[in-house]
Amino acid sequence: TIGMLAIDANGDISGACTTSGMGYKMAGRVGDSPIIGAGLFVDNEIGGATATGVGEEVVRTVGSFLIVELMRQGKSPQEACKEGVERIMAKNKGRNDFQIGFIAINKKGETGSYCIHPGFTFRSYSEEGHVNNPSKSYIKS
Ligand code: ASP
Repeated sequence: TIGMLAIDANGDISGACTTSGMGYKMAGRVGDSPIIGAGLFVDNEIGGATATGVGEEVVRTVGSFLIVELMRQGKSPQEACKEGVERIMAKNKGRNDFQIGFIAINKKGETGSYCIHPGFTFRSYSEEGHVNNPSKSYIKS
């Protein structure tokens, strides 16, 4: 999945995501990416989030909506992404043989990301330039 979040000069937030789905998926499977609230969610009053990884787990937790709701409750994008991943880990009783990652942005333009396995990176672009950020992860590298 490729997920994108943007904030413009007026502070308006938008998002998009695209995916080829999971390898060896069942015919007719619908993953998280086309489901608003699961693979992508934006509330222009709060922020936006998008997910990558095993879509079934993201759908089960309405993952991107969860991240935005955690930001609504006052969490930073980083804290919200971490809690979202930890919720999924808890539902899977510590199983970690699959990947989930979230990125998020809030109304102030602060960003965050968190994933289960190290190696997931996201890129931020701004007028000052761009930077490649390694994502923090549940499993330490
Ligand atoms: N989230 C996608 C899906 O489950 C897979 C991916 O991240 O590439 O369909």
